[in-house]
Amino acid sequence: MEERFVPDCPYCGIAETQEHRFMECEWSRRIWRRSLWLNMCGYGNGEEMSGWLNKLLTEEDTDMIAGICSLLWFLWDERNKHQFNGKKLEEGEVAIRAQNWILEYKREQELQNTPRNAGEGRQHHWIPPSVGTLKVNTDAGCLGDAGTGLGMIVRDWMGEFRFAAATREAERWTPEVAEGRAVVFAIKKMKEL
Ligand SMILES: [Zn+2]
Repeated sequence: MEERFVPDCPYCGIAETQEHRFMECEWSRRIWRRSLWLNMCGYGNGEEMSGWLNKLLTEEDTDMIAGICSLLWFLWDERNKHQFNGKKLEEGEVAIRAQNWILEYKREQELQNTPRNAGEGRQHHWIPPSVGTLKVNTDAGCLGDAGTGLGMIVRDWMGEFRFAAATREAERWTPEVAEGRAVVFAIKKMKEL
């Protein structure tokens, strides 16, 4: 797999720590400001990202958690498109796409919870990413007493399998928090590659 991580931020040239990438870079902050979540996210400047995420995931507002995880994911995806394909979206557009993704996700959850759709709800139509890029899909499964399973799969634009990872956590999260955890797990894995 190609190098996914560079030492300097592709937007401003400062060392690209997790905190810089997701929270402190001026480009990232412009996206946060255009989202619904900046005032609710509870991140303080200079705070460590992992501590903040753990705190966030204990909040009761699962819509907020899902929205913020979606925003983090779209930030990361957009940064990679910019870094590797030279493509650039307007910051407001990134925030809107993250929000739309959550709305679609919720609509799909509602469909899955409708009895007449039981059994068909999980049939997703996978849409390939643009040429030269990779797409990551995540999933979470609530395993009862065994905790929660988190998984991710990476495919390229031709739908070819490139990488997958899974883990099991002892905690029993609600489906929304579990899906958020799966996204965070995938972001961490992608940074390791
Ligand atoms: Zn930056």
